[in-house]
Amino acid sequence: MSQFGTATPFPYLILAPYAVQNSAPARRLFDEAPARSRSEYGRDRDRIIHCGAFRRLEYKTQVFVNHEGDLFRTRLTHSLEVAQIARAIARNLRLNEDLVEAISLAHDLGHTPFGHAGQDALNHCMQPYGGFEHNLQSLRIVDELEERYGSFNGLNLSFETRSGILKHCSLKNAAQLGDIGQRFIDGRQPSLEAQLANLADEIAYNNHDLDDGLRSGLVQESQLMEVSLFARNRHLVEEAFPGLSGKRAIAETIRRMINDLVLDLIATSEQLIATHQPRSSDDVRHAPKLIAFSDSMRKEANELKHFLFQNLYRHYQVQRMTSKARRCVADLFALFMKETDLLPPDYLVAGDPVRQARKVADYIAGMTDRYAIREHRKLFLVE
Ligand code: MG
Repeated sequence: MSQFGTATPFPYLILAPYAVQNSAPARRLFDEAPARSRSEYGRDRDRIIHCGAFRRLEYKTQVFVNHEGDLFRTRLTHSLEVAQIARAIARNLRLNEDLVEAISLAHDLGHTPFGHAGQDALNHCMQPYGGFEHNLQSLRIVDELEERYGSFNGLNLSFETRSGILKHCSLKNAAQLGDIGQRFIDGRQPSLEAQLANLADEIAYNNHDLDDGLRSGLVQESQLMEVSLFARNRHLVEEAFPGLSGKRAIAETIRRMINDLVLDLIATSEQLIATHQPRSSDDVRHAPKLIAFSDSMRKEANELKHFLFQNLYRHYQVQRMTSKARRCVADLFALFMKETDLLPPDYLVAGDPVRQARKVADYIAGMTDRYAIREHRKLFLVE
């Protein structure tokens, strides 16, 4: 008997046969004794929550730069919303909730400051050195960059969690990643838990970006009446609460929209699973995608996404911040590459420009919005 309890295996919930099972040993890069007080994927989730990159998500942009307002989503609250939606669906489908939560919480760890603008700028700067992709960077953080354990770099997460984090990957990159990249080369699917985390991400950002867009005043409720998912639910709110307006009406509408998407995803996935009858998580990898929206809901979700793209992400006030963010990242990259003696010593790689560029990218990608702004001010503003 150890201080952590008996040696009895962790009590497993009954999962569907097509879920990733807790009873099978987890494959990790470095062997470790089995977890006792939690499942292997619960252990992964806990390691993610305790790592530095996870805490930094609090000060990284989702759409609005962190200092633009206290109520807007950040990468951290986004990741929590993804995990909540994914867990709720996982329980309905009897999938592995711990795994789905681990993937959801880690999926955006590799994001640069300033959201997609930062990623695009860094990718542009890194073109001569292999490019930069936030998805690969998330994997790099959990595999190499976190420094928390005596015997290995990274968090030594299970294969299933790492594979879920690597949501997309070019064939060229896949070939360099070993077993984790193999599914892209073979054209196979990831686990249902990974498929689910991916769609929960989409449900979360479409709805919360809409909410933030309305709160910021950059998007108006009247414009949204052309978006069928919004309009249908806004009418239902009017029926239930005649005359209700403002933030309560928006909240009532958005929660119904999320509910529509979640219920459709559960029903459609149940049907797909019943049709293809996977008997194990291995069968899942050889089947088509089994976690999906119905065709009509997919159309509605795309319509909402398109609306946000046209009216929010490209709004001139968002573009102003995006443009500034791009310059901030590009300036920092160029300066650090030219004057490497400005870098903290841990990030110096003598005589190897490709590895040096990757370390500069690691340094910049690890910055929060406000840290990047401060660095830029310190290094460029002559006071
Ligand atoms: Mg995301």
